[in-house]
Amino acid sequence: MKKWLSLLCALLMLLGCLPAFAEAAPTTPKYVFLFIGDGMGNPQVAATQYYEGTLANPDSAVPVPAQLSFTQFANLGMVTTYDASSFCPDSASTATSMASGEKTLSGVINYNTELSASFKLITEYAKDAGKKVGVISSVSIDHATPAAFYAKVQSRKQYYDIATQGLTGTTLDFLAGGGFLKPDGDGVQQNLFEIAKENNWNFVSTNDDIRALNAASGRVLAISPDLQDSQAMTYEIDRERLVKAGKDILSLADFVSAGINVLDNDNGFFMMCEGGKIDWSGHANDAATSIHETKALSDAVQVALDFAADHADETLILVTADHETGGMTIGFATTAYDTHFGYLANQTISFTDFDTMIASMRDSKATFEEALEQIEACYGLTTKADQALTLNETELASLKSAYELSMLGEEERVLGESEEYLYGGYEPLSMAISHIINNKAGLSYTSYAHTGLQIPVYAQGVGAEAFSGLYDNTDIFSKTMAVMGLVK
Ligand SMILES: [Zn+2]
Repeated sequence: MKKWLSLLCALLMLLGCLPAFAEAAPTTPKYVFLFIGDGMGNPQVAATQYYEGTLANPDSAVPVPAQLSFTQFANLGMVTTYDASSFCPDSASTATSMASGEKTLSGVINYNTELSASFKLITEYAKDAGKKVGVISSVSIDHATPAAFYAKVQSRKQYYDIATQGLTGTTLDFLAGGGFLKPDGDGVQQNLFEIAKENNWNFVSTNDDIRALNAASGRVLAISPDLQDSQAMTYEIDRERLVKAGKDILSLADFVSAGINVLDNDNGFFMMCEGGKIDWSGHANDAATSIHETKALSDAVQVALDFAADHADETLILVTADHETGGMTIGFATTAYDTHFGYLANQTISFTDFDTMIASMRDSKATFEEALEQIEACYGLTTKADQALTLNETELASLKSAYELSMLGEEERVLGESEEYLYGGYEPLSMAISHIINNKAGLSYTSYAHTGLQIPVYAQGVGAEAFSGLYDNTDIFSKTMAVMGLVK
C-alpha cells in the first residue's frame, strides 16, 4: 500500500511540473524587424533626442531630451564595427557582417576577403524556414546595405548585377523604397523592369498603389514616385517642407506599413529596413538633415512597434547601425558647455536641395547679398544685429569665400588641401553654411567619412535580451539566427 502511495505521489509531482517543461521551450519570433540607420551612431541618436526635446519644451529652463520610438527599448547592446580593411569600415562590409556573420573587405558584399567564396545570408535561412522576406531602403534599393540582404558581389558598385540577383533570385518577396541606379546596366543589358516582369514581380510606383498593397499583392517591387538624388527617397527635412506646401510624398514609415501589409502570413517574415540618408547627411556634415533622417527612422520603427502591439509574443524588433558617419559630436569650441538645438529648427532644407538653389544662383549670377537672403530664408542665419543667428565677421568671411568658389563652375575651381579640409568635396557654400549653423548650435563633425565609433543595438520583443552587452557586429547575425531558431 505504502509503495503504491509513494508511487502515486511521485506521479502527481511529475504531472505537476510538466507545465514547467512545456514552458522551457524557447519561443522564436514569428516576425523579425531589423532597422539599420546607415551612419547612425550614438551622437546622431542623442542629437535627435535633444533636438526633439528642445522643440517639445521651448520654455524649459533645463535640457529635456525626448524619447525616440527605439530609445525606450528594454535591451541595449553595443557593437564593434571594424571590417577586414579598417577600423573605419564601409556599409558593404558591415552589412555583410550583419547579414552573414562574416568579416570582409570594405566595398565587398557577402564574399570572403579572397573574393573566392560567398556567404549564406540570414534572409536565405529565414526563407528556408518558410518566412517571407522584405528589404526596404530610403536610398537606391541596389545600394550596399539593402544589397547585402539579398545579393553577393565582389564590388558594391555592381549595381546592375545586385539588382538582377534580387529580381531573379528566390529570397525576396518585397523590395521597396528608392529606385535602381543602373536599370539598363551598361546600356545594352536587359532592362531591370522587364526582368522584374518576367519573374512575376508586381511593380508599383504610385502613392495610391503603394498604400493599397496587401497580402494578395504577390511579390512586390515598390519604388517611390518622388526620388531626389541618386535614385534615393526625398530627405525627410525636404519632404516635411514640401508636404507642408501641399505635396504628397511617401515616408520611410509608409514603406514599412506597405511591407507589413504585403509580407504578413502564417509563417511570419523577416524585414530589413534601412534609413540610408543619415549616412549621406553625415558625409555632408549637415546636422539638421541628419537629425530629421534619424527621426524618420524612429517613425518607421514606430510602425513596427504598433504592429508588435497586436503581435505581442511573436515579434522581435532590432534597431542598429552599420557605422557612424562624420564623427558628429555634441559640444563645440566656441559654444563650450552650451548647446542651442533650437537653432537648427530654422533650417528647412537639406544641403542637396540647397545645392540646387546654388546652381540657379550661379546661373543667374546672384550677388553675395542675394545669396545671403536665400541663406537667411532657408537657415535663419542673418546679418541683422543682435539675433540668435547673427553672423559674426569670421562667419561672414568664410561664407563669402565659399560663395565665390560656388559661383564658379566645377571645372574653374582651384581646390587645394585647405578647400578639401573645409568643404570635403561638397558644394563649398552649402558646406560653409552647415558648419556655421552646426557650430552655433553647439555641434560639430571631425570627418567627411565613416568613423570607428562603436554602435548601439536596441532590441525589443521575443529574444531581445540576447542583444544586450558588448559584442561584434558579426554577432548580430549569430544572435538573430539563434533567437529565430535557425541553424547554420
Ligand atoms: Zn557612408
